[in-house]
Amino acid sequence: MLNFLKQVGDYAKESAQAAKYIGQGLSVTFDHMRRRPVTVQYPYERLIPSERFRGRIHFEFDKCISCEVCVRVCPINLPVVDWEFNRETKKKNLKHYSIDFGVCIFCGNCVEYCPTNCLSMTEEYDMSTYDRHELNYDNVALGRLPYKVTQDPMVTPLRELGYLPKGVTDPHDLPEGSRRAGKLPQEILDEMEADDAEAKEDAKA
Ligand code: SF4
Ligand code: SF4
Repeated sequence: MLNFLKQVGDYAKESAQAAKYIGQGLSVTFDHMRRRPVTVQYPYERLIPSERFRGRIHFEFDKCISCEVCVRVCPINLPVVDWEFNRETKKKNLKHYSIDFGVCIFCGNCVEYCPTNCLSMTEEYDMSTYDRHELNYDNVALGRLPYKVTQDPMVTPLRELGYLPKGVTDPHDLPEGSRRAGKLPQEILDEMEADDAEAKEDAKA
């Protein structure tokens, strides 16, 4: 008899637990039913990438001094710097420069460490091709001015989800000038500088 009662108790406990888990799962489902859709009709609509987005690398041939720092800091030694030594000027002359975006992991190390700032990350992310070898960009392709979502007349730019005001998840029909949710990097820097100045004044007093 006692064994039977224990079995009934266990069964009731397990049923209550199962009901709790089903309720938890459905609460997520019902929560999504209250949210508005966030579908982007790509490629007619495109999200504006965030400020520090690491897209296709832009290269300025005239600024490059063929130092090969970008190759050394790259985790896979990817950039190909083809140069020849000019005995008269005792300087390296750059002949070709290329980066294969089929292999690049867009870590940004080369951009960070280039001493002449001839490399920069753009907001270009649409680089799909049918042939992976076309992703090996030479200095001409790398020097092409970057594509900007906001300057393409064929595309409706939508504010990236991180830019949307708090509580808004639909980037369509957003009123002009509505405030974004997070702070801009410059606003954060300004606040940090103000805090530093305050701390220094407090230390003097
Ligand atoms: S972004 Fe990173 S992986 Fe790509 S070339 Fe530069 S250092 Fe190499
Ligand atoms: S680090 Fe900059 S300057 Fe040096 S080879 Fe690379 S791209 Fe050119």
